[in-house]
Amino acid sequence: MIQQHNRLIMPHSPIRLVIHGGAGAISRTRLTKEREQAYQREIREALVAGYKVLNAGGSSVEAVTEAIVVMEDSPLFNAGKGSVFTHEGHNELDAAIMDGANRMAGAVAGVRMIRNPIRAARAVMTQSTHVMLIAEGAEAFARDQGLEIVDPTYFYTQHRWEQLQRAIERERVQRYQAIEADSLLVEKDEKYGTVGAVALDCHGNLAAGTSTGGLANKRYRRVGDSPIIGAGTYADNRSVAVSGTGTGEMFIRTAAAHSIAAQVQLKQLSITAAADQALADIAAIGGDGGVIVLDKNGHYAMRFITSGMYRGTIGRDGVPWVGIFPEAEITLDAATS
Ligand code: ASP
Repeated sequence: MIQQHNRLIMPHSPIRLVIHGGAGAISRTRLTKEREQAYQREIREALVAGYKVLNAGGSSVEAVTEAIVVMEDSPLFNAGKGSVFTHEGHNELDAAIMDGANRMAGAVAGVRMIRNPIRAARAVMTQSTHVMLIAEGAEAFARDQGLEIVDPTYFYTQHRWEQLQRAIERERVQRYQAIEADSLLVEKDEKYGTVGAVALDCHGNLAAGTSTGGLANKRYRRVGDSPIIGAGTYADNRSVAVSGTGTGEMFIRTAAAHSIAAQVQLKQLSITAAADQALADIAAIGGDGGVIVLDKNGHYAMRFITSGMYRGTIGRDGVPWVGIFPEAEITLDAATS
């Protein structure tokens, strides 16, 4: 719902939405034309959903939520429906959202029954005094908030199930062959698909959100960076909004999202330089991934150190831009129309 009462909509102030659908070793040869088009379609749909909110004078928090809900509901992405399986065959979802206007934040982790974890994260932010709720507690809270609770089978997709079987088989073979344990718990090019969004509304407020099923074949109720404020998600009107995707442990260890904001705010680095520095820091400890960054002037960066990152952006003109591979990357630090 977009509340427009008493709200001044400024038609010429910049609005911008930037989204990602995960970074990883996306292979040109393995990505069929149909699949590529399907990704492009869904990214466009998510951009338009968020754009409608922003163009009608709605908040960046609302735009981030609506864009992410589209991707959570799509089986293509590793978030909501389409999430990867844990080793034991569950889907455990994480999400976070942050409002740059007041640095309010909300997150849920390890949830198995909430259809749209980003809505639950938002409810934690706005309807509780907490920042993060986990597992059954988060589910009870979401139920109390009237959010949609689904049977865990809702999250099942055949391709993710097959991916888990392959990962388990690889693990078995690796153990048998005594191959280094860290070499592959999951095929590198199969773990992408985390989704995220950053938005600037016409009131000058930034917001960021991220939603994921985490890593395929994960165990022990592992939680990554996506729901951790300052690691995979961060927003502050004084600097930038950030959403990340990649090897979550390294994003946590480098406080990646917050470090980008700090570099912009305290060192006046450009958003591209700050993003690249955070990614270099992640690479230095063996990680990889990508980030989307947006500032209050509508300047944005979509940076990644993997072979690809599903991503897109839309501004005041309402024309979506979508990209997957690096050479299409031409809009760094681009000003909002
Ligand atoms: N960062 C996510 C996690 O570690 C995964 C990803 O973005 O691919 O849970």
